[in-house]
Amino acid sequence: MVCTDCLMIIANDNASGLDDSLSEKEAVEREQQIREAIAEIQREGQIAVGDSNRDYEFSVSPCACCGTRLAGQRNHCVILSSGRES
Ligand SMILES: [Zn+2]
Repeated sequence: MVCTDCLMIIANDNASGLDDSLSEKEAVEREQQIREAIAEIQREGQIAVGDSNRDYEFSVSPCACCGTRLAGQRNHCVILSSGRES
């Protein structure tokens, strides 16, 4: 399960939404952190958006991608080559 920031980059390769709540510098750093986390996951296989019916509206579990512990929405994603779900 990944946070909405990660989902945005996984789904659309677009981090523009990060700017809403962060300063420009913070948004750049956050995007960098997320892209590195995604690259790490992609050593196992291609990550893709999973089943939106399995999203959590609210969760305090850390994001499986960037590791943020900020409570909020978590989105279901899958790693395609291995079939492992996160
Ligand atoms: Zn995340």
